[in-house]
Amino acid sequence: MKCIFCQIVSGEMPGDILLQNEHICAFRDIHPAAPKHVLIVPNKHIASTEDISNADRDVAAELILAVKEVAKLEGISKSGYRIISNCGSHGRQEVKHLHIHVLGGAPMKHRLG
Ligand code: 5GP
Ligand code: ZN
Repeated sequence: MKCIFCQIVSGEMPGDILLQNEHICAFRDIHPAAPKHVLIVPNKHIASTEDISNADRDVAAELILAVKEVAKLEGISKSGYRIISNCGSHGRQEVKHLHIHVLGGAPMKHRLG
């Protein structure tokens, strides 16, 4: 059984997709934690940052480059935003498919955490 983000990437499950290319897909979080909340994921199933290998170099670069594209599409490039990637149990990662959260549209309440 494919994971939920693999299903969104493949189109088997609906997702509010903003951007998709050969390596990555960006879609809106179903439970937004900020006025603008987008998730950027690799198309390929990689469980977390711990599972990125040297062979994934292009995917890793595309994930970071997509942040800027998403910010532009969401109109938050100038106002700013935060990116977060939760990993494992202490990182409180819930979906075990690597993703970068892009949060913006209002000032963050805390500097970190
Ligand atoms: P994590 O805690 O793993 O870093 O974050 C997982 C995120 O995925 C959460 O913010 C959650 O709201 C989001 N999420 C979980 N299931 C779905 C889904 O089916 N569709 C979308 N778009 N987001 C989801
Ligand atoms: Zn997956």
